[in-house]
Amino acid sequence: MTVKLPVTNEHGFYEIRLESIGGLGANLSGKILGELGALYLGLNSSNFASYGSEKKGTPVKAFVRYCDPNMEIRINSPVEKPHVLGIFHERLAGKVSVMAGVDENTMVVINTSEEPNKVRDHLKMHGGTLVCIDALKIALEENTRINMVMLGAIGKATGFITLESLEEVVKDTIGKKYPAALEGNLAGVRRGYEELNKIKIENDGKYPYQEYEEVKRDWGYENAPIGGVNIIPGSTVTNDLTASREGYVPIFHEDKCIHCGLCDTTCPDMVFQFVEGEYKGKQAMVNKGPDYHHCKGCLRCVEVCPTAALTAELERDYDIWNIHVRNKDLIVESMKFEDAGANSIVNTESGN
Ligand code: SF4
Ligand code: SF4
Repeated sequence: MTVKLPVTNEHGFYEIRLESIGGLGANLSGKILGELGALYLGLNSSNFASYGSEKKGTPVKAFVRYCDPNMEIRINSPVEKPHVLGIFHERLAGKVSVMAGVDENTMVVINTSEEPNKVRDHLKMHGGTLVCIDALKIALEENTRINMVMLGAIGKATGFITLESLEEVVKDTIGKKYPAALEGNLAGVRRGYEELNKIKIENDGKYPYQEYEEVKRDWGYENAPIGGVNIIPGSTVTNDLTASREGYVPIFHEDKCIHCGLCDTTCPDMVFQFVEGEYKGKQAMVNKGPDYHHCKGCLRCVEVCPTAALTAELERDYDIWNIHVRNKDLIVESMKFEDAGANSIVNTESGN
């Protein structure tokens, strides 16, 4: 059986782009969609992903192309104007240009708990159809991963990928490898397929169309600090790590903290804010909790805390921007760096 593609671009392709961070499974989703096209839908298909170092939390793009089975696929360039765009992590918007190439013909499928009109403004969406799915919530409820729920939602958004074909490909691929997880994965795909919240966005001129551009590295051999020293607090150059989190944050319970500093020693991103204070009647450095601006959500601090003063909680359940602590001295250091001419990549105040 060969499905009929509802629409193709001038080269004869139906194209999908997935925007994600390492660890959410977008690369695997791209592979499954590619396999689905060739083996279950009777199409010709290709897929590949693009990412830097294979680290959890770093930006990932995956691309899928479908075409008529009699046509050859001879291009391997990124998908610039997708028919379907899947955004696995809503906080990517504004950090990477996820909306590039989105026009009135694009279906944007995003993992979010927000309602579509609010999401439209967050994404600065020019036009097209916006499909919201609370993939994190469903994944938690069904004991599966976000990518399975997104797979279901993306399949439905195409209009030609059936739920049955998605279930088949999931059974034949990851079902064989991880049989114990199959039931949860299938439930995630089904709910992703069925629980969409969709709105049509009118091109009302509110936000302009964004051209696709290859990612330019703003920091290179010409402008990196001498000796490769990272002089911005936090271990990454871009400083703001909020987009790296997968839904969980460490929540600090000050009353349980014994100020032992184990979390501070363990945290790879210098997130904890210790200040001079008093503990048990003696002068000591006391923990004021994490600065979520730098926290990538790895939860190592939760593992090492001996008193459960840190617990892993769902980020969406907390108004963390109102409970986070920032050491003003560190902000001043960042500002100094901006003054030195590096402000094109440093946004010290985003998220505040
Ligand atoms: S490891 Fe736990 S008890 Fe120790 S300073 Fe950190 S939060 Fe406090
Ligand atoms: S989860 Fe904990 S250890 Fe990991 S980056 Fe955040 S504060 Fe640091």
